[in-house]
Amino acid sequence: MPDLLDSRRHAERRALLAGALGAAGSLAAADSSAAETSPLQLHNVTRLYPVRVSRVNAPDVAADIAASVASWSGQIAVGGGRYSMGGQIGVKGGLHLDMRRMNRLVWVKPENRTVRVQAGMRWRDLQDVLDPLGLAVKIMQSYSNFTIGGSVSVNCHGRYVGLGPVGHSVRALQLVMADGSVQEVGPNRRPDLFAAAIGGYGAVGVISEVELDVVANVPIERRVQSVPLEGYVEFFKQNVLSDPTAVLHNADLLPPEFDAPVSVTWHRVEDRAPLTETSRLVPRGASYALEQNAIFLMTEMPGGRRLREKVIHPMLTRPRVVKWLNHEASLDAAELEPRTRAMSTYVLQEYFIPEAGFLAFARSMADVLRRRNVGALNISIRHSPADRVSLLPWARQDVFSFVLYHKQRTWDGAQQRVGRWTRELIDLALAHGGRYYLPYQLHATAAQFAQAYPEAAQLRRLKESVDPRGRFSNELWRRYL
Ligand SMILES: Cc1cc2nc3c(=O)[nH]c(=O)nc-3n(C[C@H](O)[C@H](O)[C@H](O)COP(=O)(O)OP(=O)(O)OC[C@H]3O[C@@H](n4cnc5c(N)ncnc54)[C@H](O)[C@@H]3O)c2cc1C
Repeated sequence: MPDLLDSRRHAERRALLAGALGAAGSLAAADSSAAETSPLQLHNVTRLYPVRVSRVNAPDVAADIAASVASWSGQIAVGGGRYSMGGQIGVKGGLHLDMRRMNRLVWVKPENRTVRVQAGMRWRDLQDVLDPLGLAVKIMQSYSNFTIGGSVSVNCHGRYVGLGPVGHSVRALQLVMADGSVQEVGPNRRPDLFAAAIGGYGAVGVISEVELDVVANVPIERRVQSVPLEGYVEFFKQNVLSDPTAVLHNADLLPPEFDAPVSVTWHRVEDRAPLTETSRLVPRGASYALEQNAIFLMTEMPGGRRLREKVIHPMLTRPRVVKWLNHEASLDAAELEPRTRAMSTYVLQEYFIPEAGFLAFARSMADVLRRRNVGALNISIRHSPADRVSLLPWARQDVFSFVLYHKQRTWDGAQQRVGRWTRELIDLALAHGGRYYLPYQLHATAAQFAQAYPEAAQLRRLKESVDPRGRFSNELWRRYL
């Protein structure tokens, strides 16, 4: 998603990067301040907004979830990989269902290009299953650490050209409902529950299993091109969207002007194209100290921005890269981790803007970021066709999305300051007929949420019919639903 230091597994480029950083005297050991304080204090990846719960259960199968629901009389929230950023995984004083142990394959049918998994499985685990079969995930985020249930629950998207949200690749779900029943839902079987569970942040039930379309794993080649901001929409339509070989695409906008998109498109190439990256998947548990130091340097050191724009970004995107789709889809979010969260953390925001508002929004967003002196690392632009599935869609029509990756200080005053300019950006998105993404910090006002997601009224009605006591909740729904 931030596509910040896109695909840098090459020893040569790592050496160059190490040289640049070493010269700037910025190499330092990463510190891991991420130790949990108490299992009842739920932290998300940013360590902002922890939620204190009364109990944590870790189910193995759907029946365990049903038993937890039956035996707990209070509110219940669900957590996957815990990469959402505003308390979406917990409800204060409630029961937390930690889905990470439900990580097994149910079945895979290569001949039908379908797979069924438990919802706590991470994309990276699924890739281990699919890769030897010559298959790949059809739609997912840019990193592989997220659970599949959490991804479906936020209706995530990635850089996949023309495919849109993950809901477009979901064939069926198994849900555990507030009354303890286990239901199979899909486009033709309780389609109302299916639509509400995809992008529903656990409002109507716990997703215990997910059935997905998968695709062939193919070799891909990266092509990088600078495009004028004014011509980007046309460029995208003519050179990316209508090119059947385009598989993944995003464009980076760099601070402080955010006005010169660098388009990065991965094209399918012949099976026999010589690979420059021969690993089929990104290895687990690799060290990313170099990347972490690069981010630190670019955001903290005098001249860091210029070094990034003039040296590091071109250096990382210039070389020819040919690799397997599964390799590019198995990136590890650890490469974005800060060296320490003592003073600051890295966070994301995302805005979805219909095509007609692209240019005006891009310019106004850049203006807010400059005026408010936001520690932005980059904005990544992507495209999505309209959502055909979710009850609560972030793409009511075809949209361009603007993913802002920024650095935020960890003290309270900083959160309030970020809240102020975030609400400004949400207003801008709304003024251009757009929406904002819900897995991030909960800075929107209730009125902004209601304007962005008018379908929430329907979700509320459905929830009242299947969960009349409002047992499934979390800090997102406590605030807005
Ligand atoms: C570095 C980084 C990069 C990211 N890149 C992208 C990107 O490219 N595209 C994108 O769309 N998003 C992106 N995100 C956001 C990400 O998709 C969401 O935060 C997603 O929720 C992460 O999955 P998770 O397993 O961590 O879910 P969690 O954060 O654990 O949960 C998210 C929500 O889903 C609910 N939930 C989880 N599991 C279940 C279940 N089994 N049943 C019912 N409800 C459940 C939770 O209650 C919660 O409300 C990124 C986030 C980070 C930190």
